[in-house]
Amino acid sequence: MADTIFTKIIAKEIPANIVYEDDRCLAFHDVAPQAPTHVLIIPKKEIESIDQLADQDSELLGHLWIVIRDIARELGLEEGYRVVLNCGREGGQSVDHLHFHLLGGRSMGWPPG
Ligand code: AMP
Repeated sequence: MADTIFTKIIAKEIPANIVYEDDRCLAFHDVAPQAPTHVLIIPKKEIESIDQLADQDSELLGHLWIVIRDIARELGLEEGYRVVLNCGREGGQSVDHLHFHLLGGRSMGWPPG
């Protein structure tokens, strides 16, 4: 897969407001927040989308969910939050590096747009 802006953020070639990092993932504030809290959680492994997941990525995905849980607690989202994953163009994905959106700090509508 081609490098994306997230590849450059992982490599620290461009800045990001990082909230969490370990050897497998990185989390940083979205540059165009759609809620008072809007954090992106990404694997450091280059995976284009959920559609490109390999069977052996299941442990990594489990780790990302635990990180999301901990960041939500850390950022005080005890009233609730939403986790969004866009896949492909019709799914609204604009950056081709797997990422979860963690959104909170306001009431969410349903259905999503
Ligand atoms: P998606 O549309 O699901 O692919 O989400 C991509 C997200 O990446 C959008 O919410 C963008 O605002 C965000 N984004 C793009 N470039 C940056 C950046 N340099 N730093 C932080 N967030 C970014």
